[in-house]
Amino acid sequence: MSYDILIIGGGIFGMATAVTLQQRGWRTAVLDPGPLPHPLAASTDISKVIRMEYGPDEQYMAMVEESLVGWRQWNESLGPFFHEIGVTMFTQELMAPGGFEYESYQMLLKRGHHPERLNVDEISRRFPAWKPGAFVDGFYHAQGGYAESGRVISALLAEAQRLGADVLTGQTVNEIVREGGRVTAVRTEEGHTFTAGHVVVAAGTWTHLLLPELAPAMKSTGHPVFHLKPAQPELFTAPDFVVFTADIARSGWYGFPLHPGEGVVKIANHGIGQRLHPRDDERVVTAQDEQNFRAFLAATFPALADAPIVYTRRCLYCDTLDEHFWIDRHPAITGLTVAAGGSGHGFKFAPVLGNLIADAVEGRANPWLPKFRWRALASQTTGEEASRHHG
Ligand SMILES: Cc1cc2nc3c(=O)[nH]c(=O)nc-3n(C[C@H](O)[C@H](O)[C@H](O)COP(=O)(O)OP(=O)(O)OC[C@H]3O[C@@H](n4cnc5c(N)ncnc54)[C@H](O)[C@@H]3O)c2cc1C
Repeated sequence: MSYDILIIGGGIFGMATAVTLQQRGWRTAVLDPGPLPHPLAASTDISKVIRMEYGPDEQYMAMVEESLVGWRQWNESLGPFFHEIGVTMFTQELMAPGGFEYESYQMLLKRGHHPERLNVDEISRRFPAWKPGAFVDGFYHAQGGYAESGRVISALLAEAQRLGADVLTGQTVNEIVREGGRVTAVRTEEGHTFTAGHVVVAAGTWTHLLLPELAPAMKSTGHPVFHLKPAQPELFTAPDFVVFTADIARSGWYGFPLHPGEGVVKIANHGIGQRLHPRDDERVVTAQDEQNFRAFLAATFPALADAPIVYTRRCLYCDTLDEHFWIDRHPAITGLTVAAGGSGHGFKFAPVLGNLIADAVEGRANPWLPKFRWRALASQTTGEEASRHHG
């Protein structure tokens, strides 16, 4: 089979790209081992945070501003799967210059948004699930919330097919074929060959397995996710409880209100994570993870301290060393683009990812792309994503 553009990977980077490339008139196919949404994919989950807050990083906030317009439109045309209930970002000490919450708050004001700063008493009164006095400052911002990410993948898959794309599961790419300096085809473990004028590698945390030259710049890290069954579900329901970060840059902890369909409260940790091989290593949440989690609950949400954990998952990031995405054409091989490096924060940009990646494929100028260009990252490069807990 021959296509204009082949996309390796049916996660959010791949699926959003397929929709946009079809809209731009390209004949595309998405290849994935499947089923889709893939159970091990980072994009497959009950919820992902959609937040504007990125500390002092103005480009990410601008990208989310535009993404929010897209999420609201997708809710009408493809959803609903985006819950705009707002976010709370609280701190255990007063917000201070240089801190993620303080810099985010200042950037929101600078860009004309209206976050509500809350003190210790207002936090207790408005959000009674939080342990009184434990968090003393922060804000509520009405814009943002969460998206049901697995459902988003299914909806975009259907939209890509409606626009004429082939979405081919049962296809695990194991070779990118080059003739001279140009990519001409891919081969799969299942014995098939697909030819195309251009190939997009959007294989998430598996990307550096397909392109080993990227291994020095990106790694797979595993992060714990917990689902709890609250004894008082009403306490964890919006508007009394919304998407939250709990001094996230210093603790890693963040979470969601009671999920309307699943009936659980999901909480996870956005920290350093555990270095893992995406295919060969087991993905488990350890007893130590659970102990850390219980300590966090006892100190933050007393009503959840003893709640039963009904599900756990260790989910993998495609972590670039600087934690910025990797979206660019290969500098030396024609007909090859990489779109990966979500680094634990890529999903919220879904409505703008398609255009961003399609512009990279077509070689079109895009003011946001330089941040994600093909780049040399020294081994001692440190992460720059402001909400990430770096230990
Ligand atoms: C625990 C966790 C929590 C997160 N929370 C948030 C959040 O709250 N907000 C947010 O914005 N972001 C969040 N993220 C980040 C976000 O989920 C990712 O950035 C995004 O989903 C990455 O999408 P992707 O398409 O690059 O990768 P994936 O979704 O992992 O998709 C990659 C696809 O490639 C396929 N594939 C792999 N190898 C091959 C091959 N050889 N051939 C064919 N197909 C292949 C896989 O089957 C898979 O379907 C979180 C991530 C994790 C892990």
